[in-house]
Amino acid sequence: MLNAEDIGGVHIKYLEHCPRQLWLFARGFRPEATSQRVLLGEAVHDTSYRHEQAVDLGAAKLDHFDGRRWVHEVKSSSRLTAADRAQAMHYCYLLHRLGVEVAGAILKYPKVRQTERIPYTSTEGAAAIAAIARALDTVHAPQSPPRLARRACHGCSYFDYCWTD
Ligand code: SF4
Repeated sequence: MLNAEDIGGVHIKYLEHCPRQLWLFARGFRPEATSQRVLLGEAVHDTSYRHEQAVDLGAAKLDHFDGRRWVHEVKSSSRLTAADRAQAMHYCYLLHRLGVEVAGAILKYPKVRQTERIPYTSTEGAAAIAAIARALDTVHAPQSPPRLARRACHGCSYFDYCWTD
């Protein structure tokens, strides 16, 4: 069973996107490994910021942490989502928990050439702690959470599993 130290950025991203996705992911379901959308995301990531050094925090791996104490993340989507934000703040929280001073996160969207800057505050830290608790509640639930409304599932790599009867 997972505990708080095992919760990484992907868990938090899936929790915010869809608790059912997190529940399935925690049980080893990995359709994203062959998803065209995910493969595209990895290609954008690899070709956009190849020169930056990734930072491995165990359960979480962030793209880069710069000398001004900002976490950098590259996204293949076109806009900031709640899941992107929660994942980035989770990384900031993990660094903070390790005693690293962290200013916040810079999220880069190369497809639309935009950058979002989110300062890390005590409020963000409290939200990150609460998100870990919600993630644990979700993965330990005996039953899978319900599906989202079908229109909200567009583009999800778990779509075939959830919607093929
Ligand atoms: S297809 Fe929909 S219900 Fe299933 S995991 Fe994805 S977002 Fe959630």
